[in-house]
Amino acid sequence: MRVSRLMLVTLRDVPADAEIASQQLLIRGGYIRRVGSGIYAYLPLMWRVLQRVMRIVREEMNQLGALETLLPQLQPAELWEKSGRWQGYTAGEGIMFHLQDRQERSLGLGPTHEEVVTQLASDLLRSYRQLPVTLYQIQTKFRDEIRPRFGLMRGREFIMKDAYSFHDDERDLSRVYGEMENAYSRIFQRCGLHAVGVDADSGAIGGSASQEFMVTADAGEDLILVSPGGEYAANQEKAISIAPPALPLPAGDAQIISTPGQITIDQLCSAQSLHPSQVVKVLLLLAKLESSDEQPILVCLRGDQELNEVKLVNALTQQLDSPILELNPINAEQLKSQGLQPLPFGSIGPDLSDHHLSGARSWRPQFHKLADTTAIALERFVCGANSDNQHRWGCSWSAIGAIQEVDLRNAKAGDHCVSNPEQCLEERRGIEVGHIFQLGRKYSQSMGAQITTKDGKQEPLWMGCYGIGISRLAQAAVEQHHDNAGISWPLSIAPFQVIVVIANVQDEIQMTLGEEIYSELRSEGIDALIDDRGERAGVKFKDADLIGIPWRVVVGRGAIEGNVELVNRSDRDTVVLPKAEAISSLLNVIPTEVRVQL
Ligand code: ATP
Ligand code: MG
Repeated sequence: MRVSRLMLVTLRDVPADAEIASQQLLIRGGYIRRVGSGIYAYLPLMWRVLQRVMRIVREEMNQLGALETLLPQLQPAELWEKSGRWQGYTAGEGIMFHLQDRQERSLGLGPTHEEVVTQLASDLLRSYRQLPVTLYQIQTKFRDEIRPRFGLMRGREFIMKDAYSFHDDERDLSRVYGEMENAYSRIFQRCGLHAVGVDADSGAIGGSASQEFMVTADAGEDLILVSPGGEYAANQEKAISIAPPALPLPAGDAQIISTPGQITIDQLCSAQSLHPSQVVKVLLLLAKLESSDEQPILVCLRGDQELNEVKLVNALTQQLDSPILELNPINAEQLKSQGLQPLPFGSIGPDLSDHHLSGARSWRPQFHKLADTTAIALERFVCGANSDNQHRWGCSWSAIGAIQEVDLRNAKAGDHCVSNPEQCLEERRGIEVGHIFQLGRKYSQSMGAQITTKDGKQEPLWMGCYGIGISRLAQAAVEQHHDNAGISWPLSIAPFQVIVVIANVQDEIQMTLGEEIYSELRSEGIDALIDDRGERAGVKFKDADLIGIPWRVVVGRGAIEGNVELVNRSDRDTVVLPKAEAISSLLNVIPTEVRVQL
């Protein structure tokens, strides 16, 4: 390919709305263009990168015996109603784009394909003899993300590989899950990425194994906690740890203390000489359920601990037996609009009475109460007295009454590791590039996908699902591989493996030598690019640095003696070599398996 024919437009300046390095470089390097919020065009260079990533993914999926397929993106609402997810995906903070056709039938644009694939399985799979089977596809997904950002990292339209496996028992599911885990590690390694597998939240389904693959990078949106040797690694949403011990409260009788203006834990602790771990704090939230019911929630936490919202939503989903569409703090205005009296915010205790809710316009009239394990573990503590400017000192749970105990706190860096208490957790930022998940029978049960088992019984299928964010992965590679001058693609996914830069295209000797090298490289199966533009050499070098082709052959003044410069983009190592040696060096460093011409 010739740069002069590539429609290449590079930018010197950082685009104003591009926040992270990989996004800036992909825009500046002519790889992507923003068309709308979370909507990007993949320009020819980017499409090459994506094709290479998809090739690697396909090879690894095919290796496992998975069957490639292509499922519809327009999905009838009935399928999602059958699985019970239509409401959750379209109402409240739901992320499914949805529409009505000319017959006023509701449809969604596929954010994921469990429903479609389970429906197919229920139609096509009848007997254990057809199992196991794994289907996969590579396709554009649509999600109306609340915060689309960072270019391809969180788009509203993006490319995903999704796979679904079907089994007649749980053991076979976990076997294939294990194979997928290995295939994922190979995929990320082959793409030149440093990725770690972490325990992931498996949502409200609970129990089932789930792992995310994180590319570690400072720009990552996820927080992950790892033990120093890497034996334990988990997304913070899911992570568990040993909380630091609480400071015991000094001896003394239980009493009411006056705490004027001491609303926050900090204010209370500094005025009363307390440590936050001696306090039980109370949060009031409102959960919107699938039935549109609004359930007030009261959560107790040890004063020095933070609420983990994912853990809370999971606990509520199970306890209230409903998806949680929204969860928001309760404020004074909402109380007013419910026709309720103000609450003593800042002095609320765990035993806040349900009387406060009686007469509410639409809320359920009882608090659903939960307490984190570390709060329950306190023998004596300080907490609100449910009247303004008053707290209780030396209170105990026997005085309050029983509250359901759940793990609701965020594990943090510095906490001791549960599996090895000698070690402390460390934190890293990660970009989630893949997610594998043992779904179990959730969808086969709700959608009636049954097979005849070996014993002749009718039973729901066991299912796994396995996603890779293809377009996110490609950008994550840039996040891990760039420098001040631009991108430095891993060889296996670079749009081209070599760029031949002719310093001066007016010079016939340079031109001839450059063209010879270009065509010899191509005949060896190397995907080469030749910069044949009439630009100044400096401009071409800058562009070559920016677009990040792994190897550069510079044909300049040395051409008279038949010499060229061979430059390694990542470490800038430069050697001057005669043409033939330059070519044989390239053949050495570019293994045949990555010599794929697109
Ligand atoms: P996230 O937590 O980042 O929103 P998710 O858990 O919702 O992702 P999955 O449903 O597990 O994502 O989708 C599989 C993969 O698709 C993810 O691991 C990620 O790599 C990719 N992905 C998900 N959402 C997006 C998006 N909006 N833009 C680009 N890639 C995405
Ligand atoms: Mg995920």
